Amino acid sequence: MKIIFSDFDGTLTNNGKLGAVFFDLLNLIDKNKSELVIVSGRSLSWGHFFLTHFPLKHVIMEGGGVIVGKNKEGHLYEENLISDQEIKKLDDLTNELVKLYPKCILSADSFGRRTDRAIEFSQMERSDVEAVELFLHKNGLNFSRSNVHINFWVGDISKARGVEYFIKNYAPHVGKDECLFYGDAANDESMFEFFPNTVGVSNILAILDQLEYKPKIILEGKDNSGALGVYNHLREFFDQSKNF
Ligand SMILES: [Mg+2]
Repeated sequence: MKIIFSDFDGTLTNNGKLGAVFFDLLNLIDKNKSELVIVSGRSLSWGHFFLTHFPLKHVIMEGGGVIVGKNKEGHLYEENLISDQEIKKLDDLTNELVKLYPKCILSADSFGRRTDRAIEFSQMERSDVEAVELFLHKNGLNFSRSNVHINFWVGDISKARGVEYFIKNYAPHVGKDECLFYGDAANDESMFEFFPNTVGVSNILAILDQLEYKPKIILEGKDNSGALGVYNHLREFFDQSKNF
């Protein structure tokens, strides 16, 4: 496998924490001459953190809205996958949203976002979440729920679209069948549809019924949740060159 694409929250973490197994995973991928590309709903500024502190070359952030890379000199660069007009429209509608619904809690990392914004729906009353979702719908904003946020955006953004663009422009020698994807939530669904080789870590069971497109392999058991599941599966895969 040339590239391992993976979601971050709930897939490379365990119980919301980044643990030692994540670093074992980085070593395992490096040892097998593959590359990890994180595809996350988290913000552009989180992407900077990933690239600054982990041995990664690229990440796809904001649910596919922006690619962040590191050049040979170690400098970071970014490429937005939506237009400046779409970014401006998102900005204006977000200002309107928070004025109209003061109980809407934007995520603490929304200030570091460019192509989408995020809402801390678990900290809000259900009726407020519904009102906010209605506003998003009425104003033609797209939105989806991850296991931590409701993300919303203007324009055509999805994890799969971001990855398709990435492969075409940053890794044109890599075929879809030479990639693996790991995920755990509804915002990974486009990836389960896009890639032939996909794995859901065991914590995906909680939302599996909501998915029209499910991962090809679904891991089972507590020991296969989050980063542990990715590590166990990938180790076995590399050891046996296991086929899908
Ligand atoms: Mg997740």
